[in-house]
Amino acid sequence: MHPPFITHPPFLIIAIDGGAASGKSSTARALSERFNLLHVDTGSFYRAITAELVRRGIAPEDLDALRATLPALAPGTRVEGRAARMEIAGRAPAPAELRGPAVNAAVSHFAAVPEVRAALLAYQRGQAGVARAHGFRGLVMEGRDIGTVIFPDADLRVFLHADPEERARRRALEGQQDSIAERDRLDTRRKTAPLAIPPGATAIDSTHLTLAQVVEHLSALVAATSPPPAA
Ligand code: C5P
Repeated sequence: MHPPFITHPPFLIIAIDGGAASGKSSTARALSERFNLLHVDTGSFYRAITAELVRRGIAPEDLDALRATLPALAPGTRVEGRAARMEIAGRAPAPAELRGPAVNAAVSHFAAVPEVRAALLAYQRGQAGVARAHGFRGLVMEGRDIGTVIFPDADLRVFLHADPEERARRRALEGQQDSIAERDRLDTRRKTAPLAIPPGATAIDSTHLTLAQVVEHLSALVAATSPPPAA
């Protein structure tokens, strides 16, 4: 009996969760380059939706307005390099807008609303199709509920920690005004899809580790989950 003929290695899904400024984005970006993966930053999706809702003057408490507006947003995806960017009505908000103080202050309030999360669920899972269509070997998705809700069967689930002081230092180095502790509090305490360590996840405290050390560690785990097909 011959083994089945494999022309491609299996599609790889890596889920990275963690609090604000825990190192998710730098880690995910490095892994996306090393393993030819689409980098999907779901925080940027919540930020894009938030920017749009704020622009329309809708408050997170206004459920009627949210129910009327969210289905009409019908976001698309633009792939830039290895990164997935959300487009709303054909426009991808500028990174400066997504990371500005107005969005930083509002995003966790919108992200706690079940209707907002529901509106993003299929869109996020659909990123696997985007990755395939663009010829990536898989995707690395970062957020708060990736290993718990979006892709609980991911090939590798990772949870990143870092001390609050170290995280505040990282944000300050990026020149960002951000209330990390407040967002973490809201993200951890919300009822729907709270920030939590996914079952079976590899938890890493990156407080005293360099990015290169974290990436090396995870790369070894990725290589172990997906051995190259036998020659
Ligand atoms: O990752 P980032 O800090 O950019 O995420 C911004 C906010 O988006 C988080 O504080 C959280 O409220 C929300 N978020 C979420 N679930 C995700 C990703 C982000 O609730 N999967």
